[in-house]
Amino acid sequence: MIAVRGATTVAQDSPQEIREVVKELLDELARQNNLKESDILFILFSNTADIRSLYPAKAAREAGYSLPALYSSAEPEIEGALPLCIRVLLLAETCAKARHVYLRGAQGLRRDLKRFSVALDGPSGSGKSTVAKLLARELDILYLDTGAMYRACALKVLRTGGDLSDEAKVSSVVSEIDLQILYKNGAQITVLDGADVSEAIRMPEVSMAASKVSAYAAVRKKMVQMQRKIAAEQSCVLDGRDIGTCVLPDAEFKFFITATADVRAKRRYDELKAKGYNVDFVSLKKEIEERDRNDSSRSVSPLKKAEDAVVIDTSSMGIDEVLQKIKQKIQEKV
Ligand code: C5P
Repeated sequence: MIAVRGATTVAQDSPQEIREVVKELLDELARQNNLKESDILFILFSNTADIRSLYPAKAAREAGYSLPALYSSAEPEIEGALPLCIRVLLLAETCAKARHVYLRGAQGLRRDLKRFSVALDGPSGSGKSTVAKLLARELDILYLDTGAMYRACALKVLRTGGDLSDEAKVSSVVSEIDLQILYKNGAQITVLDGADVSEAIRMPEVSMAASKVSAYAAVRKKMVQMQRKIAAEQSCVLDGRDIGTCVLPDAEFKFFITATADVRAKRRYDELKAKGYNVDFVSLKKEIEERDRNDSSRSVSPLKKAEDAVVIDTSSMGIDEVLQKIKQKIQEKV
């Protein structure tokens, strides 16, 4: 006997969608586990409390699963749980090894079963890193802030007293860089020369320096290599400027997050003020515009929307709304 697990999601609580995804999930479980209907003894569903319009067990009967015992239950509401989700436990008479099946938005629940990447590109202050962090937490996958890596390169050059416009010197400093990306309680820690620089790389002078050093081909080559290695090992959300176009052109999901320069400067201003920096809005806006120009006009991997990326203008959207929109797009596509 085997116990096979699976899960899927609906984009909305409608009987028609529930019928469709339940049938798809059961058929796929049967196919991957090589089961006939008569092998299946029992199917137990549990769905999140936001699914009310049809019991998955009823949908399974309607889909033609007439022999097994069927049961549905609703899960308690748990904050942060994947919404509109249907889980299944199926008991079947066979000696084969169970193959669990996670479909649609539920794929992220079992990152060990299928690896996927979400690319979030866009200019600074567009809100992409906040959204990326939340999205990764909800999907329970890794978040890689690639900007932090370029910031660490810039910090290294600043600390060694290097001239940021000396491409050969910067490239040589970065070729030897001792940079590690670690995770503590799910949060990214950027470690340079053995020390945690996660805070230091957020200093305003590092932002501009990062924009300069990131234009150099040798710096990008080294960072892109590291990013691809991390992304190849697990499902993750990466945010940056060139994720969808260069780092992971085959990413399953690509988004280009943008907002007007005014809105972005205001966000950065509030963020830096809250950290106690004495900043001036007008010069911050100028700096953001200059970084935009640098990032978009450089010859290697400029900031650019990938052709297949979904554009989200966050100028008049709250973080929650952006997050919902991205999750909805992911569910539509999977
Ligand atoms: O996103 P963040 O503002 O932390 O990035 C700092 C700088 O690093 C950006 O202005 C950009 O020049 C560079 N960057 C990049 N490619 C990435 C991520 C960041 O060129 N994938």
